Amino acid sequence: MQAFNDTADVVHYIHGERTSGSATRTQPVFNPATGERPRKLVLGETADVDAAVASAKAAFPEWRDTPPIRRARVMLKFLELMNKHRDELAAIITAEHGKVFSDAQGEVSRGIDVIEFACGIPQLLKGDYTEQVSTGMDNWTMRQPLGVVAGITPFNFPCMVPCWMFPVAIASGNAFILKPSERDPSASLFMADLLKQAGLPDGIFNVVQGDKVVVDALLAHPSVKAISFVGSTPIANYIYETGAKHGKRVQALGGAKNHMVVMPDADLDQAVDALIGAGYGSAGERCMAISVAVLVGDVADKIVPRLAERAKQLKISNGMEADAEMGPVVTRAALERIEGYIAMGVDEGAKLVVDGRGYKVPGHEDGFFTGGTLFDHVTPEMRIYKEEIFGPVLACVRVKDFSEAVELVNEHEFGNGVACYTRDGHVAREFGRRIEVGMVGINVPIPVPMAWHGFGGWKRSLFGDMHAYGEEGVRFYTKQKSIMQRWPESTEKGAEFAMPTAK
Ligand code: NAD
Repeated sequence: MQAFNDTADVVHYIHGERTSGSATRTQPVFNPATGERPRKLVLGETADVDAAVASAKAAFPEWRDTPPIRRARVMLKFLELMNKHRDELAAIITAEHGKVFSDAQGEVSRGIDVIEFACGIPQLLKGDYTEQVSTGMDNWTMRQPLGVVAGITPFNFPCMVPCWMFPVAIASGNAFILKPSERDPSASLFMADLLKQAGLPDGIFNVVQGDKVVVDALLAHPSVKAISFVGSTPIANYIYETGAKHGKRVQALGGAKNHMVVMPDADLDQAVDALIGAGYGSAGERCMAISVAVLVGDVADKIVPRLAERAKQLKISNGMEADAEMGPVVTRAALERIEGYIAMGVDEGAKLVVDGRGYKVPGHEDGFFTGGTLFDHVTPEMRIYKEEIFGPVLACVRVKDFSEAVELVNEHEFGNGVACYTRDGHVAREFGRRIEVGMVGINVPIPVPMAWHGFGGWKRSLFGDMHAYGEEGVRFYTKQKSIMQRWPESTEKGAEFAMPTAK
């Protein structure tokens, strides 16, 4: 596969055209594997948000009135184009995010799953109907689009996370504005071009590049009816509160600290594989990465040496190399933050079993690489346990039994994902019932729900009521209307003063 080498500026996409808009500010987009800055990103201003909203608002009425099956056909064509160009998109992701190419391909596939789901929109928008709620009267419900809606997305999934949002929003009849991450913004323009080729009318999908200025303009704009956000918890909290203050519907998915409990009866070979893949895959920059191994009873003594051996042998390189297992982290600032946490863990008294700091990849000395790091004897008071590090750092916590493991997980402020490795059906059932986390894997380390099940954590991993994509996604992007109807032939004469009841 050809590496992505475009050097053109990354701009906005408004009303079906690429444009630099009114931007005077720019910032570089890095290639994390080399440290080079091949592209410049324009940073939007309030005027660019106004232009995108005006375009979306103008395009909305005709799109809303387009029959769902015809909207679904545009999605089907988009699906075909995404499948055709999936490797080009994956190469763009690797060039700007740094994740290895096979992982980028996986991300694109999971995004495509949601597009496939959105192709079923005629079925999903079907309402309920009750004949004869009262004599001669029928009642039905239907779901209608909100209008102009916006999505603000994080760096770690520049294709998949936008795809959690816009296919469902657009298929439901809305006009969508995407504010991608500044770190890896090019995937958004690539998908915008494919949507246009698929026949989507101009104005129904817009991209405004930028930072807090664009986010705040979207939050305050009276014509933006809903905001979907995915990113870190402090920003998710801010988006939720500010959006709600402006009267918007908000869904804000935040950060995570995902535990994997390993019971003594687990298949320990599988548990080691799972911890290595889910701890260090994508350099730990997944909101569903496992960052804490909760080792029950004598499990720690059996598997920590094996984890250490594997962590030292990770194949770390430029993500376009065929056998790469882990690439760089996204920015130099992220690298410094992660290595700062490792120093903190040492100061806090955790046992540093494998130290990934200072890792160099020959030929890529300026890349943002850090190796896999493994801590043992981590305790719940330590900041390296409490806080999201978002890097390839796995912390082992030792507990005596299942109850202590469940209590530990439940007391954590985050509740995005969790896994339990066991062969015991009763333990698995109790774990599923008692754990206070939104997405649970039993012998599945990264239980990202499929496109029709919906994605979302609990506690400080999600602000808002509804999960992303799936049927909850359709509900988020539509509002319910109930209609009661009767005809003169079945209407009694005379004013009714009592509360109407079924007759
Ligand atoms: P981030 O919070 O820094 O940025 C997310 C988005 O918010 C970006 O578009 C960014 O431009 C914008 N933003 C940043 N600072 C802002 C500010 N002060 N005001 C307004 N907008 C601002 O997150 P990130 O570093 O891009 O992504 C990593 C984080 O996202 C991690 O915490 C990870 O757990 C989380 N994440 C969560 C999920 C989930 O589903 N729960 C999925 C993916 C990532």
